[in-house]
Amino acid sequence: MLYLQSIYRKMNDNYNKNIAREIKQVLSEIGENPEREGLIKTPERVSKSMEFLTNGYKQNPQEILRSAMFAEDYSQMVLVKDIELYSLCEHHMLPFFGKAHIAYIPDGYIVGLSKIPRTVDVFSRRLQVQERLTDEIKDCLQETLNPKGVAVVIEAQHLCMQMRGVQKQHSSTTTSAFSGIFMSDEKTRSEFMKLIK
Ligand SMILES: [Zn+2]
Repeated sequence: MLYLQSIYRKMNDNYNKNIAREIKQVLSEIGENPEREGLIKTPERVSKSMEFLTNGYKQNPQEILRSAMFAEDYSQMVLVKDIELYSLCEHHMLPFFGKAHIAYIPDGYIVGLSKIPRTVDVFSRRLQVQERLTDEIKDCLQETLNPKGVAVVIEAQHLCMQMRGVQKQHSSTTTSAFSGIFMSDEKTRSEFMKLIK
């Protein structure tokens, strides 16, 4: 029992103390009392959630894709729609969230379908702008899988705009990035766009 308690304490103690210390300072600076009951564990919780929301820095998306690449003759479009996405904008560190739609046309290799949302997670769990996020996902798939082309469309709402009143509520931002045949062949691109509507 004591042993379990000490493991539990250790697990609980496993957070970045530097982040927690700074968050405590922020709480004071905004006029809060960081010692009151509701806030006493907040620095620790923010530290843990911040580490989770930025754990994409510690992961290699190319490795994740390579771990499930298979030689295959299939040469039609592979499309994964409505991939949930949560990221933090690098200007305000506030969430932006929405959906990603990703397609590729294989050229000898396919990838396990679950690895595509994983790739989205790795790039999303870093400080981002939506434009770069879209490009990074496209480039990663193109460079790792070397398919005939990749298409990525992201639709997202940005809390840094909505909460600060910069943008009308519920409006969303769409970004897209294409490579290979999606870039050069209008018909392939419009087929993709039709499929994600
Ligand atoms: Zn922002």
